[in-house]
Amino acid sequence: MSELFLPQELIRKKRDGISLSDPEIGFMVQGITDGSLTDAQLGAFAMAIFKCGMTMDERVDLTRHMMNSGETLNWDKLNLDGPVVDKHSTGGVGDKISLMLAPVVASCGGYVPMISGRGLGHTGGTLDKLESIPGYDGTPNNTDFQSIVKTVGCAIIGQTANLAPADQRFYATRDVTATVESIDLITASILSKKLASGLDALVMDIKTGNGAFAADYKMAQELAQSIANVSSNSGVPTSCLITDMDQVLGHSVGNAIEVTECIDFLKNPKSADQRLLELTIELSAYMLQLSGLEPDLDSARSKSKNALESGKAASIFGKMISELGGPKDLMENPEKHLKPMPVIGSIESNSSGYISEIDARAIGLSMIHLKAGRTKSSDPIDHGVGLNKIVGKGEWISKGDPLAMAYCRDQTQLDFLKSEIPSLIQLDEKKPKVPSLIKEVFSLNEGLN
Ligand code: URA
Repeated sequence: MSELFLPQELIRKKRDGISLSDPEIGFMVQGITDGSLTDAQLGAFAMAIFKCGMTMDERVDLTRHMMNSGETLNWDKLNLDGPVVDKHSTGGVGDKISLMLAPVVASCGGYVPMISGRGLGHTGGTLDKLESIPGYDGTPNNTDFQSIVKTVGCAIIGQTANLAPADQRFYATRDVTATVESIDLITASILSKKLASGLDALVMDIKTGNGAFAADYKMAQELAQSIANVSSNSGVPTSCLITDMDQVLGHSVGNAIEVTECIDFLKNPKSADQRLLELTIELSAYMLQLSGLEPDLDSARSKSKNALESGKAASIFGKMISELGGPKDLMENPEKHLKPMPVIGSIESNSSGYISEIDARAIGLSMIHLKAGRTKSSDPIDHGVGLNKIVGKGEWISKGDPLAMAYCRDQTQLDFLKSEIPSLIQLDEKKPKVPSLIKEVFSLNEGLN
């Protein structure tokens, strides 16, 4: 049937605002994957979708064909005694939630095969953070990955070349043709990769605010609704939480430094940062409830808290690290493996007041300047540099108090942060209203058309 189609005719159809059928979309995705669609045709196709949009049916079809363009994971043969469930975040500054969340959900009976990305732009990547742990192998083969998920309950690894290869080519083309910011294409791109891991349920953390990809609230809402609809229409119950990214999440930003914050969090949840704790518990609760492990959100919240306070989540995290090649004693001796930087200094406030605004995006970009993040995917990164003890909105600061501690390779980096960071944190004499962390939730069947 595919010989009946011509790429240029399907691009024309989409350009003119006409919906494409399932086989037509399948033909285009096949062409993206096998290279028979040229770069020019792919760019034009992306722009036609960007300008004319897609119906819900088209989004579901595009997601399914992209998901099936490569390997998909099947869990049936592993005879797991619980559901396979995952979380995906659209990315933020200091967003280290996955590292705590996966072991919490695993402690409560879920199996979490988390395939995460590397950082790009001002946001950090979960895999980069984990790779600051010596020996950590973020690219095991599928058999080892599945076996670790079965024995430990969770494994966090990187994306393989065989996972949704159509998206890898499509995304690279969108990146250079001004077609990234399309709700249709973002939905299919994110979900094709996530659904390829054979999930029973999915929770999305859609960040909004100055440190988020969807800085604009309306865009975050549209994306949340689109992802909840397409994923649920594809047979995977999904909840999307829209959460605040108008300040750094937790107290640290960097790679090794964020892993250290996670280890402290798991070992001492009672003294954890409240926003980190709230988001971890809330995302876990939705994962447990949606996957049927708990009957309601309240019982799911208390089970998640118990997983943290009993130390079970900390022990599962340690096990996951060692199964993936990291040190066996990371939890006991983190400082032995996550070495401190040669130059550590305090960044002081030039004035007194309540912290009213934090430019999280610019803080993320300052980390790229130090090479804790990258500007293109082939860039090497420095896992050691970063900021810790970053202040939060609503805190009172006196002149000369620390706004953050900087961990640097040399004095030049420290001087840069000392001049940059204070200008990114605004103070006010009036105590500001700190916005709630969880702003809105879109659940599986809401708004289905
Ligand atoms: N992240 C993705 O994986 N795809 C997009 O299109 C945007 C963000």
